Amino acid sequence: MTARPKKHFGQHFLHEKRYIERIVSSIAPRDGDCVVEIGPGEGALTLPLLAAAKRLTAIELDTDLIPLLEERAGPVGELAIIHADVLKVDFTALARQLGASRLRIAGNLPYYISSPILFHCVEHAQAIEDMHFMLQKEVVDRMAAEPGSKVYGRLSVMLQLACRVVPLFTVPPGAFRPPPKVDSAVVRLVPLPAHERHEADPARLHAIVKAAFAQRRKTLANGLKQLLDEEAIRRAGVDPKARAETLAPADFVRLAQVAAGA
Ligand code: SAM
Repeated sequence: MTARPKKHFGQHFLHEKRYIERIVSSIAPRDGDCVVEIGPGEGALTLPLLAAAKRLTAIELDTDLIPLLEERAGPVGELAIIHADVLKVDFTALARQLGASRLRIAGNLPYYISSPILFHCVEHAQAIEDMHFMLQKEVVDRMAAEPGSKVYGRLSVMLQLACRVVPLFTVPPGAFRPPPKVDSAVVRLVPLPAHERHEADPARLHAIVKAAFAQRRKTLANGLKQLLDEEAIRRAGVDPKARAETLAPADFVRLAQVAAGA
């Protein structure tokens, strides 16, 4: 039995075995790992992950899929399904509840909310060991982009300040049912250790990065004028005439720190 994919839930079920195997071997789950899957769907990744880790927690918004998942998982291992919107799941509390020091999160994400899910996970980075996500390839390119690249932006800066971003491989539309209109890619995110994490206030950092990239063509002095004057930008060691896309992630941290003291 297979479910009819629902567009409004971003359902594109993986069916090509070799990509499923490649994803699972990239994650390399071990017995005892605390694996959490976002959007298990019909279980394409859930079942092999469960077979390796023996227990798994899955977060699924579509109630209709739950009986099917429970039935398939029964003989394989211990599957706990949280019926919820992943954006409402507190991963820090979940790790505590599962008695895990840190979670290993995985998922072929619903593309319509992929950026909000990424930002949500970053907020709980200290409770996460690593993440493996299938996303639109274009999103993975933005996540991993370096300063100077056309696709370097808010997503690149915010993710690279929290995690090591490792693009793994691309997946063609034909690997999914129904095929999405775009190429997909799998990415590994490894939260930075505590001593490498930035010390800027997250809300202020978000505001600076958002304003700086809102008008990519403008100078920072112009883009940030509601938040920092030219003198303050210079104090952060940044040229006020520069454009956001030329700044390293660490430059934004210094701008946020100067803004906090200004
Ligand atoms: N993992 C399955 C696979 O690879 O075949 C399904 C992937 S499908 C791209 C995305 C899954 O996320 C669907 O099962 C969908 O119902 C679920 N989903 C959509 N929005 C969600 C949300 N806000 N919270 C949790 N799950 C969600």
